[in-house]
Amino acid sequence: MSNRCATLNKLIPFSCVDGPGNRQVLFLQGCNLRCLNCHNPYTMALCDDCGDCVPTCPHGGLSLIAGKVVWDNIACQQCDTCLQTCTKNASPMTKQLSVDSMIQSLTKNVAFLNGVTISGGEATTQLPFIIDLFNEIKQSPTLSHLTCFIDSNGHLSSSGWHKVLPNTDGVMIDLKAWGNECALKLTGRDNQKVFDSINLLAQAGKLYELRLLFIPNQTDYLENIDVLAAFLRQLSSSTRIKINAFQNHGVTNEAASWPAAKQVEIESFAQLLRDRGVTNLHLPNVYL
Ligand code: SF4
Ligand code: SF4
Repeated sequence: MSNRCATLNKLIPFSCVDGPGNRQVLFLQGCNLRCLNCHNPYTMALCDDCGDCVPTCPHGGLSLIAGKVVWDNIACQQCDTCLQTCTKNASPMTKQLSVDSMIQSLTKNVAFLNGVTISGGEATTQLPFIIDLFNEIKQSPTLSHLTCFIDSNGHLSSSGWHKVLPNTDGVMIDLKAWGNECALKLTGRDNQKVFDSINLLAQAGKLYELRLLFIPNQTDYLENIDVLAAFLRQLSSSTRIKINAFQNHGVTNEAASWPAAKQVEIESFAQLLRDRGVTNLHLPNVYL
C-alpha cells in the first residue's frame, strides 16, 4: 500500500487513443518544457496559491483558506476564467490523487480496461508516484494483467528511466524537432536528453510509439528528412511512428497565429519517410 500522491490535472476513465486498447489515463500537472505550441498551457506549472484567480471566478468556485486555494468542483462551471487569469500557466483546479485511490478506481473498472497510461503535463516530473503506482498494479492479483504506459517528452535521465522501467510495459515519446536549434526554439530545451531516452527505451524494448508533431514552417523534419528517416529505420519495426498534425486551438502565444497542418502536408511528409524505408507509420484520422 502506498499513500504517495500526485498532483492531478485530469483523469479520463476510458480512452482508446493513449496506448493499446482501452485505458484509464492520468494527466499530471506540471511540465519541464515550455512549448510554444502547447494546447494545454495551464498544465505547465504548479499553483503557488497566490490567490489572483480567486476573485475572478464568476461562480464562487474558488476560495482562499489558510493561504491555500480551494476549488469547489460542484460550484465550478468549467468556464476557464481562472485559467485565463493565471499568469503562471497553472491551474487552481487540480487534485491530489493517491496511489491507493487510483488502485481502487482501477479495481472498480478492471473488467473494461486493458491498462493505464500516465500523461501530462509531463508525467515523469512526478516519477515517484508512477513508480509506486506501477509497482502496486503489478503486485495486485486482480490488476497485474493491466499494461502500464507512460506518455513523455523524453526529458528524463537514464537513472530515472531505470527506476521506472521494470514495471513499465511501454512508453510513447515526442520527438518535437530534429535539431537542437529548432528544439530550443519550440520547447525551450535542446534535444539531447530526448535522443538519449529514445535510444535507452529502444534498447530496453519499451519504445511503443515515437511521435512527430508536424508544424508547417516551424519543425525541421523536412530539412533533415534523410537523417530523420535513417534514425527511424534503425528502431524496431514494432515501434509505431505517429505523425501528428499541428492545430492551433488552445494555443495562447505566438503559435496561435501559425497555420494548422493540412492533410496534404502530412501525407507528403509521410510519403517522404516511406520512400526512405520507414514503416509502421500512423497518420491522423481527422484534421480539424
Ligand atoms: S492558479 Fe495561478 S492565479 Fe490561481 S492561485 Fe494558482 S498560481 Fe495564483
Ligand atoms: S473554471 Fe475556474 S473560474 Fe470557471 S467556474 Fe471553475 S473555478 Fe471558477
